[in-house]
Amino acid sequence: MLSLHRFFSLRRLARIAVAVLVLAGLNSAAFAHGGAHGAGFADGIAHPFSGLDHILAMVAVGLWASQLERPAYWVLPLTFPMVMALGAVMGASGLPLPWAEGGIAGSVLILGAVIAFALRPSIAMSVALIAVFALFHGYSHGVELPQSASALAYGAGFVAATLVLHAIGLALGALASRPAGRLATRTAGAAIAAAGVVLLVMT
Ligand SMILES: [Zn+2]
Repeated sequence: MLSLHRFFSLRRLARIAVAVLVLAGLNSAAFAHGGAHGAGFADGIAHPFSGLDHILAMVAVGLWASQLERPAYWVLPLTFPMVMALGAVMGASGLPLPWAEGGIAGSVLILGAVIAFALRPSIAMSVALIAVFALFHGYSHGVELPQSASALAYGAGFVAATLVLHAIGLALGALASRPAGRLATRTAGAAIAAAGVVLLVMT
């Protein structure tokens, strides 16, 4: 707990929050949403990269997985896109899911915190957490998806881009095989969590 206390010194947190605010301010695309969602495969690929909220959440899934033992290492980055697709079907079919909007920003905050604290819950707990976040991500996009044949192409592109972002997180986490790298991963988690707070406030 002593090292945790030092890790989360107020000064460090403040510095991270300021950096995130500047980043969010400079990059007006803090949120992927606001524009209309396209309908083709290329639009689906582009979308997760179009906003800080999606990028951070999906990289965070890979980053967290990199902190965990196998099989969680593989199961988490595969669970997210699969449940996300399920959520998209739920959203497109009009099933209600409360808090879907805040769910994306909230997932950034919680995933960041989980990485910062290097939490290692059981595989069932980890999968359940990832599944809830994925459901929110999928649902909010399913609601917006045009009810057309190209929705499937858009979804396929979206899932492909999500897997790429998970892979980026896993790759970044792989650098954390040494103690300094582990601290870097946890610091990245703290920055992601701080960004999540900003996103939640902006939502
Ligand atoms: Zn989106």
